[in-house]
Amino acid sequence: MSQLIPPHGGKGLTICLLEGADRDAELKKAQELKKVEVSQRVKGDLIMIGIGGFSPLTGFMTKADWKGVCDNFLLADGTFWPVPVMLDVNKEDASAIHVGDEIALYDPEGDKIMATMQVTENFELTDDDKKYECEKVFMGEGTPTADEFWKIAKDDHPGVQMVMAQKPCCLAGPVKVLSEGEYPTKYAGIYHRPAESRKIFEERGWKEVAALQLRNPMHRSHEYLCKIAVEVCDGVYIHSLVGNLKPGDIPADTRVKCIDALVKGYFVEQNVVQGGYPLDMRYAGPREGLLHAAFRQNYGCSKMIIGRDHAGVGDFYGMFEAQTIFDKIPTPEGGQALLCQPLKIDWTFYCYKCDGMASLRTCPHGKEDRVLLSGTMLRKGLSEGTPIPDHFGRDEVLDILRKYYAGLTEKVKIKTHKAAMGD
Ligand SMILES: [Zn+2]
Repeated sequence: MSQLIPPHGGKGLTICLLEGADRDAELKKAQELKKVEVSQRVKGDLIMIGIGGFSPLTGFMTKADWKGVCDNFLLADGTFWPVPVMLDVNKEDASAIHVGDEIALYDPEGDKIMATMQVTENFELTDDDKKYECEKVFMGEGTPTADEFWKIAKDDHPGVQMVMAQKPCCLAGPVKVLSEGEYPTKYAGIYHRPAESRKIFEERGWKEVAALQLRNPMHRSHEYLCKIAVEVCDGVYIHSLVGNLKPGDIPADTRVKCIDALVKGYFVEQNVVQGGYPLDMRYAGPREGLLHAAFRQNYGCSKMIIGRDHAGVGDFYGMFEAQTIFDKIPTPEGGQALLCQPLKIDWTFYCYKCDGMASLRTCPHGKEDRVLLSGTMLRKGLSEGTPIPDHFGRDEVLDILRKYYAGLTEKVKIKTHKAAMGD
């Protein structure tokens, strides 16, 4: 009997990925079905649904699910879920597809049929609906009015831009996933299905596992967050985003090497597991923090490390909004509630006077004594060849990053903002 936290939703891991002969038969059938092209975001969502990462979701959301998630963080059946997971299609496709039809979902970039789907609902999401979703999902607490939000969000909020760019119709229904894309081969040993990470944790006898969300190379602040978690849990799962990146991001294989070097040199290896997951960022700020916790629960983690400005976007959110949102979400009965709890940690930094890593809760000294750590600042410094302050990162990690930047032929300008001082 597993000691780990049960998957989200109370239905176990709802795996929708077919394998072996079942997969071959479904793929053969799929050749005859109407093909609908999917975006890279939908592709990531499909893989997560397939491997049980999005349990209890078994397909794309209905209009009622969408509304419930936007308004109350609840699916139509009353289960907690923080962000819409929609299959958007163009009008032409939507008008040719009817409720009850079976369709094939096709990834044009990988030239691959990703899944089949039984259509249970076919509906429009108008521009007004999308605006409604953006205000509910992306607007931070500190934003005075929706008008103020839109003034900045329409040009500067990548999450808002993605939702507004979605095609005008949506299809809902359960899916049978037929491919995990390039992830199992490209990230062999790192890419885990939730059942696999759970098995690793069980073999180590872990019960309480904390997840660290990572999309930047690990610097000292990340290391410190992990070490706090190791002190209070049985182990830590360093879980990196290996989905699509934006220009200027450091590729996953380089980040994986950095984590390996850090774990080898500075951790008790038995207490740490490294993994990767196939999603893109949704840039949903605090709500994305909730999504991180929900899918980490499926991977077997009972705690989600939430530091300063977790999943922040520019200056859209308060520094600790991704922590406090956990106290404001509904708590339906039993397994329908989010069980994975946040491990809330204050702003952390290296302090010369403390002579070590500290946080606003432990260090009484001033700004001038502290080295503020930020992934964005680190990337900017490395990219522009300016010196990296002492105590910013471990030498082994910086060496790997310097080699990566030295090999780049095209430099990308890194934009900094207020929040970049500590992400
Ligand atoms: Zn101090």
